[in-house]
Amino acid sequence: MKEIIEAWKTNARTDFEKNKEFLRSLPKGRSTDKAVSELHEQVFNESDCLKCANCCKTTPALVTRPDAKRIAKHLSIPPKTFIRKYLLEDIDGELMIARVPCTFLNEDNTCQIYEVRPQACREYPHTNQSGFSRRVKMNANNTIVCPAVHEIVNRLKAIDL
Ligand code: SF4
Ligand code: SF4
Repeated sequence: MKEIIEAWKTNARTDFEKNKEFLRSLPKGRSTDKAVSELHEQVFNESDCLKCANCCKTTPALVTRPDAKRIAKHLSIPPKTFIRKYLLEDIDGELMIARVPCTFLNEDNTCQIYEVRPQACREYPHTNQSGFSRRVKMNANNTIVCPAVHEIVNRLKAIDL
């Protein structure tokens, strides 16, 4: 994990445009999804999110209405109170956690609501989901946010798709 974080710290910002170009050039087929999904397993086996938590520290998590209902129940408060107290609504009506670092992030990088956390937190950074090559902008941005994504993209460059 240390090497993955160090490489990300040193290179993520300078690599950004190059990585975006590379992500744009990926074949839009299943071969890309298969390779990325295998690299996801590989890189996350070598990573420890508790030593990082950069996503929770820097990116407001999206919260769906069912997420809000589930988390509110867990906190024993009405959904409306949860939304008012902890969330922001954007101009499209999408809800997100109002504060970064996230209100629910503990000092030791654990999540206070881990069992009921938003779906977006469960799925982040989406590298094991189909359609990877269609999410160029998001993946490029995630190379800046997430050391694991930066590493997955670097390893992907060595694969003939
Ligand atoms: S930014 Fe990536 S490596 Fe860091 S905690 Fe989030 S998912 Fe894990
Ligand atoms: S809810 Fe938990 S997993 Fe999601 S951003 Fe906050 S601390 Fe991280």
